[in-house]
Parts: sequence; C-alpha cells; structure tokens
Amino acid sequence: MIDAEEGEGYRIAGGRADAGIVILCDHASNALPAEYGTLGLPTAEFERHIAYDIGAAAVAEHLAHALGAPALFTRFSRLLIDLNRGTDDPTLIMRLSDGAVIPGNRELTAAERDYRIERYYRPYHDAAARVIAACRATGQAPLIFSVHSMTEVWKGVPRPWDVSILWHKDFGLAEALLAGFRSDPRLAVGDNVPYFGGLEGNTLSQHAHPFGLPNAVIEYRQDLVADARGQAHWAEQTAVILRGIIAQDGVQSRTLATSQAQEPHMAKTEAKTETRAIDAKTQTELEAAAFRKLVAHLQTRTDVQNIDMMTLAGFCRNCLANWYQEAAANKGLNVDKAQARTHIYGMPHAEWQAKYQKEATPQQTAALASAKPHGH
Ligand SMILES: [Zn+2]
Repeated sequence: MIDAEEGEGYRIAGGRADAGIVILCDHASNALPAEYGTLGLPTAEFERHIAYDIGAAAVAEHLAHALGAPALFTRFSRLLIDLNRGTDDPTLIMRLSDGAVIPGNRELTAAERDYRIERYYRPYHDAAARVIAACRATGQAPLIFSVHSMTEVWKGVPRPWDVSILWHKDFGLAEALLAGFRSDPRLAVGDNVPYFGGLEGNTLSQHAHPFGLPNAVIEYRQDLVADARGQAHWAEQTAVILRGIIAQDGVQSRTLATSQAQEPHMAKTEAKTETRAIDAKTQTELEAAAFRKLVAHLQTRTDVQNIDMMTLAGFCRNCLANWYQEAAANKGLNVDKAQARTHIYGMPHAEWQAKYQKEATPQQTAALASAKPHGH
C-alpha cells in the first residue's frame, strides 16, 4: 500500500502499489500560500483555468478511488509555479497568462525563483518519484496517467473535443486510450491536440520516460467536468477504459526488466482483429500510426545521427520535417520549418543538436559524400 500523506505543497491519496497505475494531477489547486496573497490579481482570476485545471482534481480523485490506485495532487496554483514544466522552462513561473498580467511574478528575482522551486516544486516531484519507485518495487511497471482539463474556448474559438489524449514517448497507452474513448461514437476525441504531449521537462518526461513506463496525459474539456455529476461520469468512463487496458495489456505480468529496456515501451493492446475492407479514413489512420511510431522511435534513439541516416538511407529527421511541412502546405496550412522540426525532434531543433548531435567524423563526412544522397 501507498499511504495517504500530506506535505505543504502536495497531497498523496493512498492506494495499492500494485494497482498497475499512478495518477498525477499537476494542476489540481487554485490556492496560494498565505505569504503570496493573490499575487496582485483580482480574486476572480483564481476561478479561471489560468490558476488551475477546473474539475481535474475531482476527476483524478474519483478515478484513483475507482482503480484503488495512488494519486498525487498539487496543493497550490500553477500561477505560483507550474509543476508540469522543467525548472529551466521560461513558463515555469508565468508573468502573463491568457491575457492576465501577474503582478506578483513580474519582477521575479533569481532568489525568489529558487525559493519557489525548493519549497513548492521539488517536494511534489520528490513525492511523485517516491510513489512511482514504490510501485515499481512491486515488480510491476505502473502506467503513469496525468489528469488535466482544457478550456472549452481558446482565443475565441470553441474547442471541438470532449476529451483529448496527449502523448509523446509511449504511444502504446495513448493508442489504447484513444481506441477506448473512440468506441463511444458520441464523443469527439482529440489526438495530441490542442497541445503536443512532448514538452521537454514536463511531469511525464521526468517520471515516466526515464523508466520506460507507459504514460499519457488526458485533457478533459473543462465545461464537461465543472460539476460533481460530470466529474463522476468522466471518472467512471475513464476507469472502465483503464481497467480494460491494465487487465488486457498484462501490466500485472509485465516485469521491470522489460519496462526499463532502452526501447520505448509500447503497450501491446490485444485489439480484437477483424477481417474487413479498409476504408480510406482507416487507411490514413493506420499510416499515421506507423508515422507516429517512427517519430517516437527516432526520438528515443538519440544515438542515431542524422548524417548516418543520410548516408545509409538517403533521408534524416530534417527530411521528415520537410515532408511534414510539405504535406501541410499541400493542404493550405502554414507550418513553418521550426514547428515542423519541433514536431519530429520532440523539442526545438537547436536543443536537440546541443544535446545529441555529435561532431561528424571525417569518415562520416566522406561516407556521406560518396553516398550521393538525394535532396536534403
Ligand atoms: Zn493542466
């Protein structure tokens, strides 16, 4: 058992360490420590999404209870510090959020930033690491499931999705969740919208990716989970899907030895196979799924250098980004080069280069020259 526990900036809801899942709720609360007052904002701003994810904590609580799983909640607003960011992310402490200037964050000193990290950020992440380590110690790799909510309108445009799954380095769980929600034809289900799941430094990149744990973010549209009835309904629907994934996927029998492997862990959902004609839309979805696996694979295999890909196969990550950009242009959509590359690399290109690109050896340069690659 993971025991219930409360720290100043976090709360753990107890649950079984071998439940097969850990639930995280990074944006659970709109509260601030007393010393910060309202950060200079009108109190009405704390009822908005800029302060927290409306409804997310209640859904996460119901869900944890339904699955007998441990869950972790923040006790302070993301306006104090955003726990779903890396400490080097410029949006860790927002000076401006969705049109609101946050006076208490505007003149932030380095000392104040460090203080908030030490006092309100680290304890949550330490607690998450402890809970996940205790679950892994049972010998069974837990799914890491991060619960959020999104606004129903963004910059005047209504969002069409009831629920969306964000994913980055483990499409296996996301794929199973997407299939689960899409089996209800009344639902509009988003796939990596309105955000891409691969924000470097976010909670999943800290607590799931390094251990090869299957992981996904869920974004409920906030108007659907604003009241108790909606919260219970969505928690139950999600619990049914997750129970199926945990049982069917053999999370119970998956050993840590396999989940810690270098390869990205792809949850193998035993979907019922059908023999039927494949329509054009399904064809596109299958092709897109294969593309996503390719991209996820390349994001994991940071040891593979672009120059070697070019020499051997005549294409590299930048070519993929170009093809993506071209496909968008053919549909009249403006995706710029930087956006396309971020989509493929999972981070800005320059950041990837700094982290993973090695200086080409004379041998690599010569091999590329003699391979006469096609257009780059
Ligand atoms: Zn959120």
